[in-house]
Parts: sequence; structure tokens; C-alpha cells
Amino acid sequence: MNIGIVGAGIVGRLLAWTLATQNHKVTLFDKTSADDDSTASFVAAGMLAPYAELESGETKIFEMAKDAVPRWQSILSKFRTAIELQPTGSLLLAKPNETAELQHFINRAKRMQVSLKMIGGQGIGKLEPELAEQLFTGIYLPEEAFLDTHQIMHALADNIRMLPILWHENTEVISIKNKTVKGDTFNTKFDQVFDCRGLGASNDLPQLRGVRGEIIWLQAKDVSITRPVRVLHPRYAIYIVPRKDNVYLVGATQIESDDCSPISVLSALELLSACYSLHPGFAEARIIKTQTQCRPAFPDHLPKIIANKDCIHVNGLFRHGYLLAPKIVSAAIAYCMKEAKGESMAQ
Ligand SMILES: Cc1cc2nc3c(=O)[nH]c(=O)nc-3n(C[C@H](O)[C@H](O)[C@H](O)COP(=O)(O)OP(=O)(O)OC[C@H]3O[C@@H](n4cnc5c(N)ncnc54)[C@H](O)[C@@H]3O)c2cc1C
Repeated sequence: MNIGIVGAGIVGRLLAWTLATQNHKVTLFDKTSADDDSTASFVAAGMLAPYAELESGETKIFEMAKDAVPRWQSILSKFRTAIELQPTGSLLLAKPNETAELQHFINRAKRMQVSLKMIGGQGIGKLEPELAEQLFTGIYLPEEAFLDTHQIMHALADNIRMLPILWHENTEVISIKNKTVKGDTFNTKFDQVFDCRGLGASNDLPQLRGVRGEIIWLQAKDVSITRPVRVLHPRYAIYIVPRKDNVYLVGATQIESDDCSPISVLSALELLSACYSLHPGFAEARIIKTQTQCRPAFPDHLPKIIANKDCIHVNGLFRHGYLLAPKIVSAAIAYCMKEAKGESMAQ
């Protein structure tokens, strides 16, 4: 098939690469350049954390995401360059007098037939020696993992360039109608079009909204943490995700807004003080940069594949873009191929 894909975020790139490896003719459009790191897919921390969804009661996401790690491992094994997925598990921590949230989490997990138990300083110290003394109680989630999102986005770009995919960078699409992609200087008809514009599709998907997230990049020479750590707190819940060279991403706020302006003072204060209370070594950390982006979300926070006469929209990945992209991309391709064969399918 001759397929157009609008939007080269994690969903659009994974779709383009997968379809081209299946011998389809693929044209990709994005209004930014391939290495513009300001888009949501670059800004994301890259946690593959299905269990985190139990905390907020997103049980459908938990079910959908259980095989996210093996799906990513299979994708990465086909890349020409070695990319690391870190299967380290993650830690969920709370101060001993604030363990109600941890208990709540354990109870939710139990209802999903997942058995978890609390660990104290000694158990935490075995996993993260520098956190042993901080008087936290925690839960270890061994099946979680994380990726370096910049590494994945660049690797996908490299692998896409090795295939005969036409990639129009810095090319804004104005409309997608009747499988025709229109911009200022082009109007191209395809056999099928996938709309993967994230929040850029909100004019065509009126229920789509932005959920603002702010993240701080720190370089902390005095801190050595090897896996994602989430701190549960009634007001200042944070996560810390390691990158190489003692760099840590501290995130992330979740604010009902599609405002992508720079981080607010309040958010910065809350994220940084929660991070310092996790590990005093963050006191001398250097703030490398701050980033803000908006997660594309539908009212039920579930991703959707919406097909109509114009295109197939793949959107609403909310805070689960990396967690769910492999699954949603393969479901979208399966839908497209069945539709092309004329098989009727429920939406
Ligand atoms: C702070 C933060 C932390 C996050 N952490 C995680 C995490 O740890 N794990 C996880 O799984 N998810 C995380 N997410 C969520 C993740 O970033 C999103 O779910 C994901 O980026 C959605 O991917 P997408 O490809 O659908 O959309 P996007 O990443 O938004 O990509 C859309 C693309 O479409 C392009 N585009 C838009 N309009 C047009 C147009 N008119 N013409 C041409 N191109 C257009 C844009 O330039 C962009 O490249 C996080 C998000 C934020 C903000």
C-alpha cells in the first residue's frame, strides 16, 4: 500500500518503520525536524511502568501494558545499532508516616491479582545503596523498565533512513481529507493515511485535550541511583529517572492545560524540594535544563484508533506513549490491513 503518516513522534516513527519493513511505500510528514527535542516524544522520561497505573486506578492501561517490555525488546533487537532497554525494575517510596498511599497501591494491585509487599531501609539499600539511610518504606516493581527517549527517537530516525521512506521534515500539514494530505505546497493522495499528530490533531478530534507536564534535568555528581524511583506524597509526588553521566530527569507535573510555556516557579520548587528530600546529594546538583510539553489525552485517558473516510487517527497516548506505542501501532496496522482487504471491523 501507499501510506502517508502525519506526525513523527514515537507513534508516527514506529508506524513508519514497521510499515516500511513490511514493504509498504511510506511517506512521513512532520512540522519539526527529526532531531527537534522539544516534542512530547523527546521530552518523555521513558518509563515503562505499567504498575504505576494501578496507583491511579488505570486498570485498563495496566492490562494493555503488561507486555510492553518484551514488545520493546523485540523491536530493539531488529535495530541496526544496539539500544539499551534498562530492565532494572523500579522503586516506589514513601516516608514511614506517609505509607497510606503505598498500602492503597498494594490493595489495588491485590484486586488485579498482583502480589506486592513493602520493603524497609535494608531492602531498599540492596537495590539502591544510597537510599538505604533515608528512612523510606517502599515497594520494588521488578517487571518495570525504562528507555532513553532521545536514544530511541534518534535510533528510529536512523533506521527509518535506512529504508526507502520519504520523510518531509519541517513540513506542516494543514488538513487530512479523504486520504489526502494537504500542506502549503502539496496535496498528496494515499491509499491510507495515519494521523499521528498528537495534540496537533485537536481540531479534528474535539475531545482531545492537553495535559501539561514539566520536567527538570539535573546533573548530580554526588548521586548514584540506577533505576526509576517514584516518591508517593499527597502533594509532591515525583519520579526520578537516571540517564548516563549522573544525569537525572525529575518529573513530572500533571496540570490540566495545553500551555507549553516554561516551567512555573511553584512546580520547580516542588519538584526540586521533593528530589532533595529523597537524596541530599541533589543539593549540589546542577540544573541542566527544564522542559514543558503537553500530553495528548482523551477524557478516559485511554489511547484510541479512530478510523473514518479521511484517515486512521492514532492518538490519546497521554502519559503512556512509550508504554503503549508498540501495542497500539501493531493494532493500528492490523486494522488498516483488514480494512484494505474489505473485512468489516468494529471500531
Ligand atoms: C513530561 C512528560 C513525561 C512523560 N513521560 C512518559 C514516560 O515516562 N513514559 C511514557 O510512556 N510516556 C511518557 N510521556 C507521554 C508521551 O510523551 C506521549 O504519550 C507521547 O509523546 C505521545 O506520542 P505521539 O507520537 O502520539 O505524539 P507527539 O509526541 O506529540 O508527536 C506528534 C508529532 O506530530 C507533529 N505534528 C503535530 N501537528 C502537525 C502538523 N499539523 N503537521 C505536521 N506535523 C505535526 C509534531 O511535531 C510531533 O512530532 C510523557 C509526557 C510528558 C509531557
